[in-house]
Amino acid sequence: MLNDKVAIITGGTRGIGFEIGKVFLENNAKIVIFGSKEESVAKAIIDYKNDGYDVRGFYPDLNNYDEIEKTIKEIESEYGKIDILVNNAGVSANRKIEDTTSGDFANIMNLNINAVFNVTKATVEVMKKASGGVVLNTSSMVSIYGQPSGVGYPASKSAVNGFTKSLARELAPYNIRVNAVAPGVTNTDMIAALPKEQVEPIIKSIPLGRIGEPRDVANAFLFLASDLASYITGVVLSVDGAARS
Ligand code: NAD
Repeated sequence: MLNDKVAIITGGTRGIGFEIGKVFLENNAKIVIFGSKEESVAKAIIDYKNDGYDVRGFYPDLNNYDEIEKTIKEIESEYGKIDILVNNAGVSANRKIEDTTSGDFANIMNLNINAVFNVTKATVEVMKKASGGVVLNTSSMVSIYGQPSGVGYPASKSAVNGFTKSLARELAPYNIRVNAVAPGVTNTDMIAALPKEQVEPIIKSIPLGRIGEPRDVANAFLFLASDLASYITGVVLSVDGAARS
């Protein structure tokens, strides 16, 4: 489905991003992963190698635009193009507002939306030259329904939705599609880090009766990245088992 496409996946070292990488590779894409640290990127490259795939990796500071631009230019000169960008790196929050500092709130915004802006801005320049591309963002179910604490997280993911819908309209004339996937509770380290008492009631309320697996989410990214979605832009696709809490 992605023959010879070149894809960048931020947060591609583990969890949902790692699985998006796998499903893209299984569909004949070439992938470049971004992670937060040299060690985690190196580990992920070995994990992909063990599955039989060669993957390139970088660990730029996603809040440093100059560093991002330099990395994107390096990828462009190495691969000649960038067809797909997946903005997937993200952090969650669960503390009540009285226990959240303005610095905590800013940190969430920095990674979950400001970094999305930075990587997209630099990559779109490459896509415009090629007259087309696909930008995909990882939103969240809580961008639509909110959550009982950790207000920065749903706020940042709501911003991702607004970014997606608006940029889709701006970039449509360049044949660049922009969509988001809004996962529900998905079986990754991010969920393992949350208190049990916060996660269990959510799982109980999921109509499909189970937590999502990274592959459930990655398959939605595959569809939206592929030509099967050639007339779809500006959507936020829920992949949440109809969870509504
Ligand atoms: P995870 O914690 O397993 O992975 C997060 C990824 O983000 C890692 O690859 C990590 O390297 C990267 N990352 C974290 N901080 C970074 C930083 N400062 N700079 C660069 N990269 C950084 O989480 P996950 O569950 O796989 O989450 C992936 C995305 O899915 C996130 O955007 C998250 O908000 C979203 N999401 C997850 C769930 C869930 O239930 N797991 C639900 C909805 C949305």
